[in-house]
Amino acid sequence: MNVLKFGGTSVGSTENINKVISILDKYSKDDRVICVVSAVGGITDKLLKAAELAQTKNQDYILEFDAISNRHHKILTELTLSENQNISAHLNDKLQELRSLLDGIFLINELSPKTSDKLVSFGELLSSFIIAETMKSRGMNCVRKNSQELIVTNSNFTKAEVQYQQTNNNIKSYFQEAKQQITILPGFISKSTLGEITTLGRGGSDFTAAIVAAALNVSSLEIWTDVSGMFTTNPKLVKQAFPIENLSYQEAMELSHFGAKVLYPPTVQPVLNLNIPIHIKNTLDPDAFGTKISNDFIENSTTPVRGISNINNVALLTLQGNGMVGIPGFSKRLFETLAHEKINIIFITQASSEHSICFGIDDKDSLLAKTAIDLTFENEISLHKIDPIIVETGLSIIALVGDKMKSHQGISGKMFSTLGKNNINIRAIAQGASERNISAVISEKDVKKALNTLHECFFEDNNKQLNVFITGVGNVGEHLVEQIRSQKKYLKEQLKINIKVVGLSNSRMMIFNDSGLNLKDWKNQLLTGEKASLEGFFERAKDFNLRNSIFVDVTANEEVSKLYGAYLKHSIAVVACNKIACSSSFENYNELKNLSLKYNAPFLFETNVGAGLPVIDTLNNLIASGDKVTSIQAVLSGSLNFVFNNFDDTTKFHDVVKQAQKEGYTEPDPRIDLSGVDVARKILILARESVTKMNLEDIENDSFLTKANLESGSVDDFYNTLIDDEAHFQKLYASAKSNDCQLKYVAEFNEGKAKVGLKEIPQGHPFYNLEGKDNIVMFYTQRYPEQPMIIKGAGAGAEVTASGLFADIIRVSNK
Ligand code: ADP
Ligand code: ASP
Ligand code: MG
Repeated sequence: MNVLKFGGTSVGSTENINKVISILDKYSKDDRVICVVSAVGGITDKLLKAAELAQTKNQDYILEFDAISNRHHKILTELTLSENQNISAHLNDKLQELRSLLDGIFLINELSPKTSDKLVSFGELLSSFIIAETMKSRGMNCVRKNSQELIVTNSNFTKAEVQYQQTNNNIKSYFQEAKQQITILPGFISKSTLGEITTLGRGGSDFTAAIVAAALNVSSLEIWTDVSGMFTTNPKLVKQAFPIENLSYQEAMELSHFGAKVLYPPTVQPVLNLNIPIHIKNTLDPDAFGTKISNDFIENSTTPVRGISNINNVALLTLQGNGMVGIPGFSKRLFETLAHEKINIIFITQASSEHSICFGIDDKDSLLAKTAIDLTFENEISLHKIDPIIVETGLSIIALVGDKMKSHQGISGKMFSTLGKNNINIRAIAQGASERNISAVISEKDVKKALNTLHECFFEDNNKQLNVFITGVGNVGEHLVEQIRSQKKYLKEQLKINIKVVGLSNSRMMIFNDSGLNLKDWKNQLLTGEKASLEGFFERAKDFNLRNSIFVDVTANEEVSKLYGAYLKHSIAVVACNKIACSSSFENYNELKNLSLKYNAPFLFETNVGAGLPVIDTLNNLIASGDKVTSIQAVLSGSLNFVFNNFDDTTKFHDVVKQAQKEGYTEPDPRIDLSGVDVARKILILARESVTKMNLEDIENDSFLTKANLESGSVDDFYNTLIDDEAHFQKLYASAKSNDCQLKYVAEFNEGKAKVGLKEIPQGHPFYNLEGKDNIVMFYTQRYPEQPMIIKGAGAGAEVTASGLFADIIRVSNK
């Protein structure tokens, strides 16, 4: 004898019902089959919705009823059963009965738990009827038996307790006599010893199947659903989750108790003592192995954590007060009060000081619990021995489960540090006495992030997902997106980094996709995106609440840089080629560094100096390893290099600057480069990264421009002054030439002081032959006192800058 249970989705459409029938057909060729079915997917919820509307005098209950009725009629028609008058008439009669019950609720505007059970029982009664009739019409040897005649319970409506002795006798004697090859049983529904309709709790069809399987001591129980087994975590929330092949009964119980909806928690109990394995299978993919729950399998998984579950809608209640310390009986009275109100406790922790007891219950029970507990402790509260109970709602519990967790150290440490690194605040912690589970209470808004982070940490073989938000997709940004697109596969395979661009924005439009934007087509998507706003972009990144989120600033905009603090405070890393933040006031720079440390969110800006050259990273590594910088000598401006490499006595200074601007080597306003401000910002950043407190005003800027150049109004005026002052520039060139030198714009940092200015560089000096837009940085340190560490190469250009940003993004994954 086989017992198979098919859930709501499995019987939720004509197509799926046909799949169920073909599975049953196959099984029934070898043995007798008992098939437990749920209501058509979503119907139980709809029945309850209709009842709630009727109870509140809302006529829309009729619309809900019509939807329920139409759904069943549609399935019947598609299964071509409507041609059979008897079947059609029976369905109509049942639906009419349902309608009358709803009308009754509407009239008296009351819905007792007893009526609610009667009402929801229609779901399973209708589905089992349709399925059995279809099978009969196809010539299968099939009978529907109403489980209410088999399963006996107490009168605890909506979640009745089974009276096993009577139930087992009923089941055994019925199946001893039954001759049919296939028996269809409605799941979930039962009857009390007084003959009232009861139900076994939401999701209870699994339980029905387990009760029947145990009563008949069959060799296996199969739960057929819409996923291929019990997954490592909720597959709807974590894409990388995968089915667990084998689980012990205890592990399955813990996972389902903590929210793995695929198995109704009480299901394990009846079959556990008889050692009947439970096999979870997928109706939509019958060949997939699924999950086998038993106590005899060879455990070969590499991690002691077998699964991660979550329960939402949790309220955390705390009873505390000095009057509790050392006085017995508080917990007894507390839990008796809850038991009296039939409130189920999901989670308990007590501080060792006995100063407080903290427990988790379903959100919907929190008001009732508070009222009852405050009443129980009325006296102590009035004497200020304890405080009125504190209620926090909007919480969730996440639990790590595994039989072998107890013999492994460091799992809770890894769990909490992983959550902490992602800025997920833990409200309470509990570890089962069996050490088979560790559970933590967190805010419900963090659940998806927590599950993904923990899954990555315990199941994904060191894989790391990076979720990137890029603002500014001009020349550099465009190269960055392209580089990410073409390197995605390599990063995944070789570095185990799974990089997703979740948000993109230019100054006009922005687009998002939390599964990752399609980078082949992003330009077109951006055209039809939503209107861009800096705050809006931040809000979206924050609300997605994805682990390892990185904000990439590819603008030169001050307003963007003002939001770095907000990003960091939400544990979103910041990668910037925008220099404004790091060269702003020391207080602001320092604050951002501190926020980065506090919220575990890297703040990286390698491209602020030398574009893609690893200048800042090298400097950071020197300092981290204990070296001290004594001096920095550098040529840091690609634009000024271009200008002085092309300017001589055959050219005009004005023309060379114009050409530099045309070729994209200068800022739109070339004065930012020529005045040395840009270079000053760069040496400031290097000085700060060398642990020196300094501001831009502290940097000596010995400008080679004339007063007229510096005081010019518009950019055009500035160019005119360059023409006027040609002689001045020729003089600079002639002097250098006569000394056999090259003109270079040099930045220096020496003993805590920095300066920038034009210098005549003699032959033989490392700066002398610097070509094109190259940059060079020489670090003199305690370890490199005479021969400096030199970094040299292209210090400007969209492609190298993009690759510097990309390198920072990858660095985030290593932090
Ligand atoms: P049925 O209607 O077949 O009883 P349920 O909806 O009750 O199906 O349970 C299956 C659903 O459980 C899956 O579709 C999935 O969304 C959810 N689920 C939650 N956690 C898990 C998990 N760890 N493994 C598999 N499914 C899970
Ligand atoms: N139909 C019931 C529910 O939705 C029972 C079940 O599907 O297991 O809760
Ligand atoms: Mg279910």
